[in-house]
Amino acid sequence: KSGFIAIIGRPNVGKSTFLNHVIGQKIAIMSDKPQTTRNKIQGVLTAEDYQMIFIDTPGIHKPKHRLGDFMMKIAENTLNEVDAVLFMINADEGYGRGDQFIIDRLKTVKSPVFLIINKIDLVSPEELLGIIDEYRVKSDFQEIIPISALQGNNIDRLLGELKKYL
Ligand code: GDP
Ligand code: MG
Repeated sequence: KSGFIAIIGRPNVGKSTFLNHVIGQKIAIMSDKPQTTRNKIQGVLTAEDYQMIFIDTPGIHKPKHRLGDFMMKIAENTLNEVDAVLFMINADEGYGRGDQFIIDRLKTVKSPVFLIINKIDLVSPEELLGIIDEYRVKSDFQEIIPISALQGNNIDRLLGELKKYL
């Protein structure tokens, strides 16, 4: 089994950290500065019985100019062609208008969309439950999976769920 997985989310939510953890080498650029990852960067996870090709997808954010519009079309086409989409948010940050913009775009995407709540090491279990409740009503996510990309928490479960969609 093999398939393509797109990762989207605001800058700094932890997409590169997640990719680095999963692939086990420094394939994505990591930085505290937003917008470091300008290009689609692919990493391939080859396990015994499956292969996942990860795509770091920039350009889905609210466009500020016409190039932005163009970038977003590319991003939307990509999202319709992958086997699953990981929409990553940061447990440590409040819900914002940028998130709603992405969630609305994702409602038209044909691929299954997982909500990945990253950085759970920074919040209490109670806060995490609050975030899950808040997002559950915003869209019909295929799965909602809390992780810590930095510490590696719950990533096995995420990969296990993703496997079903390859
Ligand atoms: P990207 O812009 O979405 O690719 O985000 P990065 O992977 O570059 O991460 C941005 C910052 O968040 C870096 O300083 C990471 O070390 C940090 N970070 C990523 N994942 C986690 C996590 O699970 N927990 C904590 N505490 N920090 C994280
Ligand atoms: Mg990045």
